[in-house]
Amino acid sequence: MAFALGPNSLKELNNVHEDLVSIVKRAIQITPQDFSVHDGIRTLEEQKELVKRGASKTLNSRHITGHAVDLVPYINGKLRWEWEPIFVIADAVRLAAKELSIPLTWGGAWDIDFTNSNEPTEDLVNDYSARRKKMNKRVFLDGPHYELPRITYP
Ligand SMILES: [Zn+2]
Repeated sequence: MAFALGPNSLKELNNVHEDLVSIVKRAIQITPQDFSVHDGIRTLEEQKELVKRGASKTLNSRHITGHAVDLVPYINGKLRWEWEPIFVIADAVRLAAKELSIPLTWGGAWDIDFTNSNEPTEDLVNDYSARRKKMNKRVFLDGPHYELPRITYP
């Protein structure tokens, strides 16, 4: 079941922080669900466009500095933004981060230490959503998104 990163995915990893690259490269070896690196480095102009379209909430994105990647399920030759495969990929990414002892933040549950979490990835999303609702805060989920935490990687 071994997958490999395609040329486009490798290109997206250019200029991304080496710790994040090592997680992605390990994750593709152990994931039972293929994925593509959709967005590594982003320019400020690209980010402005995403915010305008509502696809992102901030101009202060970790993509601009090479601290974030989006790993999108790749199924039958197409990118699919669907939770079921996203959960499977998140599992592999978490395992890779654990192996490498690299802290990671996941867009499915922004407020937790994803690397050291152990609950099923689907539960993490549900718990995060419940916490936000309890605080009357908006739930913004971005399942394919992974970033190195600002605290350890300013
Ligand atoms: Zn992202």
